[in-house]
Parts: sequence; structure tokens; C-alpha cells
Amino acid sequence: MPQVDTHCPYCALQCGMSLDGARVTPRDFPVNAGGLCQKGWTSGSLLTSPKRLTTPMLRVNGALEPVSWDFALDHVARKLAEIQGEHGPDGVAIFGGGGLTNEKAYLLGKFARVALGTSQIDYNGRFCMSSAAAAGIKAFGADRGMPFPVTDLKNADVVLLAGANPAETMPPFTQHLRGTDLIVVDPRRTPTAELAGLHLAPAPGTDLALALGILHAVVEGGHLDQSYVDDRTGGFAEMWRIAASWWPERAERVTGVSAADMRLAAEKLANARNAYVLTARGTEQHATGTATVGAWINLALSLGLPGRKGSGYGCLTGQGNGQGGREHGQKADQLPGYRKLDDPAAREYVAGVWGVDAGSLPGPGRSATELLEALGQENGPKALLVFGSNVVVSAPRSQRVQDRLSELDLLVVADFVLSETAAMADVVLPVTQWAEEDGTLTNLEGRVLLRRKALTPPPGVRSDLDVLHGLALRLGQPDGRFPTDAETVFEELRIASKGGVADYSGVSYDRLRAGEALHWPVPENDHPGTPRMFLDAFAHPDGRARFVPVEHAGPAELPDEEFPLQATTGRVLQHYQSGAQTRLIGELNEVVPEAFVEVHPDTAKRAGLEEGDRALVRSRRGETVAKVRFTQSLKPDLVFLPFHFPGEQRANLFTNPALDPVSRMPEFKVCAVSLSTVDGAA
Ligand code: SF4
Repeated sequence: MPQVDTHCPYCALQCGMSLDGARVTPRDFPVNAGGLCQKGWTSGSLLTSPKRLTTPMLRVNGALEPVSWDFALDHVARKLAEIQGEHGPDGVAIFGGGGLTNEKAYLLGKFARVALGTSQIDYNGRFCMSSAAAAGIKAFGADRGMPFPVTDLKNADVVLLAGANPAETMPPFTQHLRGTDLIVVDPRRTPTAELAGLHLAPAPGTDLALALGILHAVVEGGHLDQSYVDDRTGGFAEMWRIAASWWPERAERVTGVSAADMRLAAEKLANARNAYVLTARGTEQHATGTATVGAWINLALSLGLPGRKGSGYGCLTGQGNGQGGREHGQKADQLPGYRKLDDPAAREYVAGVWGVDAGSLPGPGRSATELLEALGQENGPKALLVFGSNVVVSAPRSQRVQDRLSELDLLVVADFVLSETAAMADVVLPVTQWAEEDGTLTNLEGRVLLRRKALTPPPGVRSDLDVLHGLALRLGQPDGRFPTDAETVFEELRIASKGGVADYSGVSYDRLRAGEALHWPVPENDHPGTPRMFLDAFAHPDGRARFVPVEHAGPAELPDEEFPLQATTGRVLQHYQSGAQTRLIGELNEVVPEAFVEVHPDTAKRAGLEEGDRALVRSRRGETVAKVRFTQSLKPDLVFLPFHFPGEQRANLFTNPALDPVSRMPEFKVCAVSLSTVDGAA
């Protein structure tokens, strides 16, 4: 095949690249302007890896044995029918992923509701973006992570980055921040914090109080944008009833950040001609994540930033299709176009597109963590189909998730590598990789991108769309209801999304092939797209944004005598999410081959640990083993672990599954732990 222009398979920046065979070269695309990170440069390796899966496998006497596609699909369909016959439609569940293309996410939601009739579907985006999505919908009436192009940041004087570490997780992004005065909010001195003019390091789980303190300083300093608040927002008075008592000195006592630094941050933002507030996982992955993101949005609104050209609020999405993956129906409560499953008009419309009766569509189901918790339990699903996710490593309290998976009557995993979840499956279905198929993704700025087929997949491999088609036919669905061609699926998605918040009806493969920059909503065929949302009005019916009253609550779990430290988790440059892909790439794995725990040398020594020792990090839920990495800049009562590693090195063995009440996102970012030598002697 000739050289093909495409996009990186990993994070939501979706850097432009070209593929010549499996050889990657960077491409001049607005978000990356010719840059790639190490993951992008090495992303071709997996396409030719001998470790990729090419044969369906069925567990026989405890071992996975190769079988034909027909045998595997017949077996799965028969078991699904049996399980549903005994336990009802909700006896079968589906778990999707934020890396799946829009077409796959859409068809997965349709397959669950139409072919299986189950309400039990959710996806791993619940672990990484749902709090910002919930906060954005509350504040603005719509959730598009960045409602402006990434390149707009180039003109910013000041950017506040709360809980985001793009210098490590998406390095090409930082070129848009060159020359900008950065305020970085992070408990750790990350590579991004190193770039900052002002680094605010709150105690973990206290950034909501920090946002309240800075907002108070904005008002106290006379910087409230009163005309913007009057003309474009509502709810300031209700919000201020709480924020008024969060003077910076009080916030200092809770967060450990000095009142002077809060006032300095307020001054910098207020005096900037162009300023942005950006949030990411550090802000979201808390049991109060929605409220915490809401607090940062309140700050942005008080300064008059959102919906103003050259300024704004945005959220940095993490997974490759984290944005599109949360718009078209693989969420427990959702129909395509960001419609709600409990909205009668939405049900009627989408059922009409699907050619079924609206009354046949199930209602909302369990969210990801609750779904995994219910597997194999009384009234819970007895079968699970997993697409594009590795929950054994990525879900909170992961040993319990592993236990739940082992209690299922049927676990089916579609993947292209034998992830830790696939290794537990009764049936493994080998599927195509990103460069072996066409498909669209929606990047962190809401731009719909076409990832083109650049390689012929190896014999024996089928696409996820083929898998859904094959199962649907065997479950009695008419031929044609589950197409296998990505463009055909997209044509249906366009219609299904029409009139929804995330309206893709004017996007087409032809327009994308022609290189048009289409940011949703694109409601007509000749519509130019919407690179900047909210310039005239927000998406609430009255066109106004909402301040949301939020109060500091702190972490769900505090340190005590037995667990005196706090642990936080995150990513490193070389690995992506659960690491199922990047751990197979030699150049990446050689740099970071195993789990480590960053710890202040004094804290390590008190636990009897030296640099390079294996440490035991233990919480009330479990323990993990990681190599000690002395980090002088870390607070003495904090440790950090990446979450990319399997087995006993899983950081998620100890994380807290406490859920945000609105987004149902778990509290990955903070829990109480102890640190000791592996034999627990110290
Ligand atoms: Fe890929 Fe993200 Fe790295 Fe860009 S920043 S090369 S999209 S992983």
C-alpha cells in the first residue's frame, strides 16, 4: 500500500502521522505540528509484532486453544442465548473502551440495546473523563472537552493547568504553551510543573478548596467580571454563598498552598489579556471529581473566560477517542448524539433509525465500577463481552474485579493482544489494529478525524464490526442491521446523532478525506463545523452558563496510624493506560520495564527502603510491589505510582473505588497507604 496519512493510535491529542508499511513519520497536523512523542514514534511496532493475536481461542480444560471463527462465534452466541434464557436480557453485559472508533462505540451501544436487549453496558471512559463531562454539562449545557482548537492556546498569556501533566503524557501539546505564563496545580513537581511560572502543590484531594480560595481572591481583588456574570451566566449568588467563606487563608490551612500564591494566581489570570483554565485527570479522579471540576469552571466563569474568543475553559481528554467514545451510546445512560436513554423523544428517534420499537429499548444500566462489581453476583450479569479494555489492570480495586470475572459463566474478550483480561477469557477474538481498518475518532478539541486503513490485516483477524455483525446474525438479527463497513456504520451514526448535542450529521468520510477540519456540532452537509463553541450562547436553553455551588469535602479516605501516607497514581511518558500495548514495545519497555514508587528519601529510609529496593505499598483494599525511586521534590507524606503494570505490580490493587455521586468515577487519585519492605519488616 502507498504511504497513508493517519493518526496515532494512543492518546486524545491524535497527532498526525504517516504510515509507510509499519514505518511511522510525523506529519504536520495542527495539534502536533510535526511532533510525536516516543509512544507515537514506536506505534508501528505492534503492527508487525509476533505477540499480536491472529486466531480465535476457546478455553478447553483450563487452556486457551485455537478454534475457527465460526466455531468461536457459534459458541459465544449459543452461550449468550442460554444465559439470557436463564437470567433475562441483563444476564449479559458489555464493557467498551475510550480507544474504540466512533463507529465501534456506536455499534456496540446498538448491539447491546437491540441484539441483546441488555441495559448492562458501560466503558472505561467512566474511569477517565466522566467527571469533567458531568461538570461541563452542568455548567455549559454540553460536554466537549476543549470547546476551542488546541492552537488557540498559542495566543494565551496565562494558562492554569489543574491536575494535568501534558509534558509527560502528551508532549507535543506543550508546544502550544510556549511563551505562556503557566500556573500548574499538582501535588507533585511533574515535568509540567517544571515549566510553570507558578506551581501550586495542594495536598491530594484538596484542589476544590484551592479553586475556592483562588476564586475568593479574584472577587476580593476586584477582578470579578461583573458584566460577563450578569450577561452570560446564572447562579453566581448561590455559588458565592459557599465560596464567600473560602478566603485564601482558610484555603491555605486545608490545601497547604500559601494564600499569597493563591492571590498571585488570581492576579495573573485576571491581568492576562488571554487566559485559559484547563483541567484533567488529577482534578477528576476523585469521589468529588464533578464538584472539583465545577470549582475550576466557577473560577473561569468569574473571570469571564468561557465562550470568549482567545480565552476559555477546557478539559484535556486522555484516551484516543475519549471524546467520541462518550458521545454515541456505549455509556450506560446514553443514546447516540449524546442523547439520554431516559429521554422519551430520544428513544423514539433513535429506535426509528434502528428500525425497532422504542419500547423494546432497555433503560439505563449500571456504571462501569458498579457493573464490574455486580458480575457473577445474584442479580448481576453472568456473561461479559469486553471490547478494547483491560479492566484487570485499569479498574479500581482490581483484584476484586479479577475475582468477579472468574465468577462469570462466560467472559469474551475482543483484542489484538493477550491483555491480562483476555488471558482470563473463555473466548478470545483477535481483532484488527488501528492501521488495519478505517474509522473515525474525535480528538480532545472535538474535531472528527479519519484514521485510514494503511495495512492489510494478517489472515485470521477480523474487525470488531465483523464480530458484532457475526454475533448479531447468530442472535437472530436481520442481515444489514449491523454493517461491517466503517463508512456504512458512520452514515447511520450521522443520522442517529442528528439533532443531538453531539450532532455529526454534516460530517462525512468524503469531507474528512478532503481534509476538512470538522469540529462538532456539524448539523448540515455544508456546515463548516464549530471549532469554537459557546461564543454566542451556552448550550442551556436560556443560553447562559451556570455557576454551580460546590463545597470542599476532601478525600474519601484519610491517612491514619496504620496507613499514614497518601498515594496518588498516574501515567508515564512511555506507557499508555493499562500498558497492554506499550509493554510489548521493546523501546518503551526498556525505559520503564516495571512499576516504581516515587517517594521522598526521608520517608523511604524511615520504612527501611533504599533507592532501587522493592517496596510494599498497602491500603485497606490490597497491596502492590514497586521499585523505590527517590524523589526529593515529593511531599514526605505522599507516594506516586504509575498504573500501567500487571500482576502484583498493579497500582489498582490498592486504589479506592469510592465513586463520585454524579459521574460515578472512582477515586484513583488519592487513598491512604503504608510503605514497607516486601517482607513487611520495617
Ligand atoms: Fe500519540 Fe499522544 Fe504521543 Fe501524540 S502525544 S504521539 S497522540 S501518544
